[in-house]
Amino acid sequence: MSHISRRKFIKFTALLGTGIPVLSHLKLFSKTVSPLTESSIPVVIATWDRDRKPNLKAWEILEKGGNSLDAVEQGVRVAEDDPENNSVGYGGLPDENGIVTLDASIMDWRGRAGAVAYLQNIRNPISVARLVMEKTKHVMLAGEGAKKFALAYGFKEENLLTEKSREAWIKWKEGLSKEDNWIGSDSHDTITMLAIDKYGNISGACTTSGLRWKIHGRVGDSPIIGAGLYVDNEVGAAGATGVGETIMRVLGSFLIVEKMRDGYSPQEACEYAVRRLIEKNKNIVKEKFQAAFIALNKKGEIGAYSVREGFDYVLSRNGKTEGFKSKYELKD
Ligand code: ASP
Repeated sequence: MSHISRRKFIKFTALLGTGIPVLSHLKLFSKTVSPLTESSIPVVIATWDRDRKPNLKAWEILEKGGNSLDAVEQGVRVAEDDPENNSVGYGGLPDENGIVTLDASIMDWRGRAGAVAYLQNIRNPISVARLVMEKTKHVMLAGEGAKKFALAYGFKEENLLTEKSREAWIKWKEGLSKEDNWIGSDSHDTITMLAIDKYGNISGACTTSGLRWKIHGRVGDSPIIGAGLYVDNEVGAAGATGVGETIMRVLGSFLIVEKMRDGYSPQEACEYAVRRLIEKNKNIVKEKFQAAFIALNKKGEIGAYSVREGFDYVLSRNGKTEGFKSKYELKD
């Protein structure tokens, strides 16, 4: 390993370990009261209580009798389009080279799945993922091919690096010359949304710009079916956020759905997956890291659990959209 690449590697691993405490920056409105015992339909649940507009959009669709696939796609698009949200789509924080690369996945109640990875210059990867699911025989497209596919379907090519994100990246680069382990105050949290509609059908969507300052070419858990997202309409759905490498090692979302199939409640299944994730990563990731799961079952019951304090989620049901703090495993 050359001096430079080793340096970058050290920086990257440090980032993995330390990135997520900063994700908790917007807990302004989150409640501590647990909503875990209620069950009703429809329901929308999404990671991170940073902005409730994505949930409100999804709820609006469900309220009018729309289906869960449209709800999750349109819901997370709100976050992708928001330049203030620096963890997804337009305005997402770039990789180490200053390039925004996006990952997304979507699944519906028919068991269909679509995903894009390492997509550049297209602001709504979730809709490209949906087209992969609906218009092709494949599940995932990546990089240049995914972009060409999107352009063929009329998506616009644009620069996704906003001035704010570029400045944050420059600041990080400058900091690099003084210390390798620069930790910024911005977040890199994914939006994962799960919904069940009034017909009892479940869909999920997951979209992200991934870990900020990641090595160019890195793909996280979000587009990996079973890691960042999984839906099985017989059982329920689960989705993830946090350090993707830790989530991929246990296929966390698939694991949760399988535990629910075995009779676990969504909450029990999320707790089981977080414990498995901690156990399986303990000799691999030495630094403190965050990872979190949300889940939903056929009854409209939900679950949420994270490795550490700081994760919150937005829940819409019975016409109300509220933020809640998640329970967590490690008290440090
Ligand atoms: N899971 C995302 C990734 O690893 C990042 C995040 O949720 O913060 O790409």
